[in-house]
This record gives sequence, structure tokens and C-alpha cells, in this order.
Amino acid sequence: MDKSNFKITKEMALQANEDIAKRSITGSYIYLVIWFSIIIPHKFYERSPQLCLWLTLTLIILAAARIGLIINFNRIYQKNPKVWKIVFFTVIWSIALIWGMFCAMTFLFPEIGYMSLSFIVATAGLTGGGVSALVPSRALTLGLLTALLAPGGFVILISDTYNVSVSIIFLVYWIGMYAVTKNQHREYWQGLEASFLLKEYAVELEQLNTLDGLTGLKNRVFFDQTLKQEMKRALRIQSHLSLLFIDIDYFKKINDVHGHLVGDECLRRISSLLKELIRRDTDTVARYGGEEFAIILPNNNKEQAIIMAEKIRHKVEVMKLPYGETHIALTISIGVSSMVPELGMSEEAFIERADNNLYKAKHNGRNQTVG
Ligand code: GH3
Ligand code: MG
Ligand code: MG
Repeated sequence: MDKSNFKITKEMALQANEDIAKRSITGSYIYLVIWFSIIIPHKFYERSPQLCLWLTLTLIILAAARIGLIINFNRIYQKNPKVWKIVFFTVIWSIALIWGMFCAMTFLFPEIGYMSLSFIVATAGLTGGGVSALVPSRALTLGLLTALLAPGGFVILISDTYNVSVSIIFLVYWIGMYAVTKNQHREYWQGLEASFLLKEYAVELEQLNTLDGLTGLKNRVFFDQTLKQEMKRALRIQSHLSLLFIDIDYFKKINDVHGHLVGDECLRRISSLLKELIRRDTDTVARYGGEEFAIILPNNNKEQAIIMAEKIRHKVEVMKLPYGETHIALTISIGVSSMVPELGMSEEAFIERADNNLYKAKHNGRNQTVG
């Protein structure tokens, strides 16, 4: 593949090779169809039964190998992409070379010369069809072109069956096809790159949709979806699931005294702290609402969740937010809800329990955890 203009990722290479395999389906049986269309009317099987049998068998075996490689593309390619590529390319080149050489033989040996016209036409067709189908790979198309055309082109030159013009036509055809595939190849890869970029943008957009703009934490929509999934998972495997509801104490006052921008900065600082403290991939830290955060802790029982909550609460308590000459002190209250889900239990009930505990923490004087 021409890698000069593009940065080819593993995924792009996989897609291109899968395309080659798919585009190659027709090619895997077309040689046989054309072969029979030539040898049956010419009664080649009567005139040279041995040769006919061997060539037919070889073409059948190679076609079967090609079909086998196409059908088992995923399995083989996933195990070893290089092996799939080498074997598949070799099979395609072999079929083309056998065809090209037999085409050449029809010019060389008068006893089968009666088929040469059919072979010239067929070879031209196979070349055109083959190179446009296999265009994702330059190596494959160039090899195919050469294997199909070179033996005939060369043999015509040294035999006296045809004049040199046929040889020149083969050469011109080779050059023409080469030029055509060069452009098609570039266009194919540009298209592939564009489609991958689009996919990447779509993933980025989706990611942005799940993030809270101010804090960069997961947003409420993401939290709701994740809690639903985690509850299902915990129910299925009967594991613990914990939820922390965090609310900044007297946050309204911070806004009133220092202004909204400082309030925003406080939200960002607490968010960074939460991100630092909750590092497991399976945990979810989200901004639930204005100055409220929610944390989902799968596989955590009540004791573990309370330990985590206290750790967070303490870190916030000692966190110093510089403000002018002094600093702003913040505290948080946390409500914890833990359970091994039972059938029929709703997310709302689970959230409500955490919310009630948060209310108790506020009521008991704030800056504390209730679980
Ligand atoms: P409590 O200890 O009972 O939680 O008191 P509180 O003042 O924190 O609670 P209250 O619900 O009365 O006030 C929440 C405040 O949070 C009010 C609102 O202005 C502020 N707030 C909500 N979202 C944002 C935001 O995005 N930025 C800023 N700066 N403030 C916010
Ligand atoms: Mg609140
Ligand atoms: Mg509050």
C-alpha cells in the first residue's frame, strides 16, 4: 500500500484488507468461469485431456484457497495480519501468473494456438476487472498486472505467431492500467482516511456530550445512564454498589461574598480533587447539579464507600484556595448509599437513600459523612 501521503493506522489497514477480501469475491470464481467458457467451445479437454485436467484442477484449488481466505478473513487476519496478507496475495498472484503463462503458451505452441485470440480478450478483461477490484493495494494490482500481461507480452516478442504490435499493445495496456490504478488507489485511501476522520469526530462529539462544560466531569445524562447500567450489572453478579452524593456547604455564601467567578473556580478545584482521588476506571465521578457531585463506586460496600467519602471530605477541608491575601475555606457534606441490588429496585430509590443521608449530614451540622 502506498503509505507516503497518509498515516495509516492499524484500523485503516484492517479496513483496507477487509475491503480487498470483499472486492476479491468475484475474482475468485471468474477465472474458472472464463476458463470453462474458453475450453468447452474449443474442446480443449478432448484435444489435450491431461493438460486440461491439471490446469482445471489447479485453478479450482487456487479459487477454493482464495474463497477460504475470504471467508476466514476475520479469524486469520486477527491472529496474524502478515500471514493473511502474504498467503492471500500469493494466491492471487499465482492464479494470475498461471493464467498469464498459459496465455503466453497459446502463442508459443501451435497445437493450442487456436485458443490464443480468446485468451488475449479474456486476459485483457481479467486485468481490467482485477486491478480495479484490488485497488486498495498497489503491490497487489501491480503484481496482478505484471503476472497477467508480462508472460504473453514477452512470448509474443520471441515467437513468430503474432507480430510485434500485439506485444506493444500489451505494454501500452500495462502502462495505462498502471496509471489508472495509481489514481484510483490514491482516491480509495483519501476516502478511507476521510471516513475514519469522520468516525473520530463522531466519537469526540459523543464524548463532549457526556461531559460537563464547567468542570470537565461527566454530566448528569452520563451519570443517569451509568447508574442504570451499574445497577443491572451489580444485580446480575450480586455485587456491592455504592453511591456518594456530595454537596458543597454554604456555597451560596461563597458566591454572594466573592462573586460567581470565584464560585466557579471553587467548583473546578473540587472537581479536580475528585478526579485525582477517584482513579479506578470503573468508578464514575459526575457533576449532578449546580454544586452537587455524585460518585458511583461499583464493587464497594458501605464501609469502603464511607472510607472513600471521608477521605474526600477531609481533602476538601484542608484544601486551600488562594484568594487575594488570604484563602477560601470550603467544606462538603456527603450522603452515602450502598447495597447489593435486588430485583425490582429502582435507581430512584437508590438515589433517594443517598439524598436522605446527605440531608441528614446537612441537618447534623454539615462537613460530615452519613451512610
Ligand atoms: P447548603 O450547605 O445547605 O448546601 O447551602 P448552599 O448555600 O450550598 O445551598 P443552596 O442550595 O442554597 O445554594 C447552592 C448555590 O450554588 C446556589 C447557586 O448560586 C450556586 N451554584 C449552583 N451552580 C453554580 C455554578 O455553576 N457556579 C456557581 N458559581 N455557583 C453555582
Ligand atoms: Mg445543593
Ligand atoms: Mg450546598
